[in-house]
Amino acid sequence: MNEIKLGDVLVTRVEEMHGPILPTEAFFPTIPGDAWQRHESSLTPDHLGDGMVHVAMQTWVLRSEGRTILVDTGVGNDKSRPAVEAWDHLDLDFLGNLAKAGIQPEDVDLVINTHLHVDHVGWNTRLVDGEWVPTFPNATYLMPQADFLFWDPANHPGLVGGVNENVFDDSVAPVYAAGQVQLWEGTHDIDANLRLEAAPGHTPGSSVLTLSSGTDRALFAGDLIHTPLQVMEFGHNSCFCEDPAAAVATRRALLARAADHNALVLPAHLSGSGALEVAHRGDGFAITRWAPFDRL
Ligand SMILES: [Zn+2]
Repeated sequence: MNEIKLGDVLVTRVEEMHGPILPTEAFFPTIPGDAWQRHESSLTPDHLGDGMVHVAMQTWVLRSEGRTILVDTGVGNDKSRPAVEAWDHLDLDFLGNLAKAGIQPEDVDLVINTHLHVDHVGWNTRLVDGEWVPTFPNATYLMPQADFLFWDPANHPGLVGGVNENVFDDSVAPVYAAGQVQLWEGTHDIDANLRLEAAPGHTPGSSVLTLSSGTDRALFAGDLIHTPLQVMEFGHNSCFCEDPAAAVATRRALLARAADHNALVLPAHLSGSGALEVAHRGDGFAITRWAPFDRL
């Protein structure tokens, strides 16, 4: 199954790719090796294998109040990514996967970038006759203003090397130039079911999309969580978290909210079943249930 209904909202999982990405100690420098071993049975084979963290690049597609909404847009094709060889000049059939889910680019009404890292904005644009053009010609792209300012090389010339090199220029600026970007800050109501909320830490503009429809609740958590181990070990960040203390605080608040309201947590990158439910356990949290999506 690639679709679930939450209240009146249809949630569809569309994959770009999945597999091993980084060694555990490189991706999560502060998580001790024995923590991976202690939880190995719940992490392998979907999230851990041979010392490597496994993740998915995927887009959550929401159909809500008659609109088609994409949450995060993966790495994208044809992009020059000198810092990450596995993401350099990709040629993947993500648009074919979207089509299999019944979605053509012109059908998309809204694109949500939970934040503006390389692996969340890639399919914002595609290369046509040597130019980067918006992939979704009829969509408004919602971007957090704090990230838009933070990742613009004009504002931080020394910052934007590394993993986000070229990203603003090829995946953000062309959409802005086309007049399709709407910047937001604080909170932003999308419709009666969906609301964006700032959750800074991983990046200054990181955000969570909340779903509340009927009795169902869900939290699209972006990169507040990269691996299920960060549920049990919520005090540990990825090496890509810009503000470690804030990242821990927003992760803890997210998990507490999910536990208190029985909300499904859908991070950007979980492979396997893609989403999970949690409960309070002592001073921390435990996974209580996995979503019924087909495993990646
Ligand atoms: Zn990410």
